[in-house]
Amino acid sequence: MHEFSIASQIISIALAEAKRRYAKRVLEIKIRIGKFSFINPDQLKFSLEAIASMEPSLNGVVFSVSEEDAVAKCIECNYQWIVECKDNPLYHYSPPIVRCPRCNNISKLVKGRDCVIEGICIEV
Ligand SMILES: [Zn+2]
Repeated sequence: MHEFSIASQIISIALAEAKRRYAKRVLEIKIRIGKFSFINPDQLKFSLEAIASMEPSLNGVVFSVSEEDAVAKCIECNYQWIVECKDNPLYHYSPPIVRCPRCNNISKLVKGRDCVIEGICIEV
């Protein structure tokens, strides 16, 4: 399960950060996921909550998960647009090939492939 391993990475990063700052507990973890990362936000939240329930310093933590649109940019004409994301198992292994709606050249994704921890709120 893709989401579960991502969730456990997020938790370990957050815990390490909290420990480094001598936090009593973690109040909130903000996460931003790109639509082209193909992480399911509900499954991610579910996994995060499952892991957090086993960790006393994460008692009552809130996970704020936001989604980021995928943006592509044409290498040829510099046109930028929001790409509609249809999941395709192939995309999990290699970046999808998108073509510019203006000039039909192959374009690259400039946003929407990441999963980022945007912020952690702690109580010290
Ligand atoms: Zn173009």
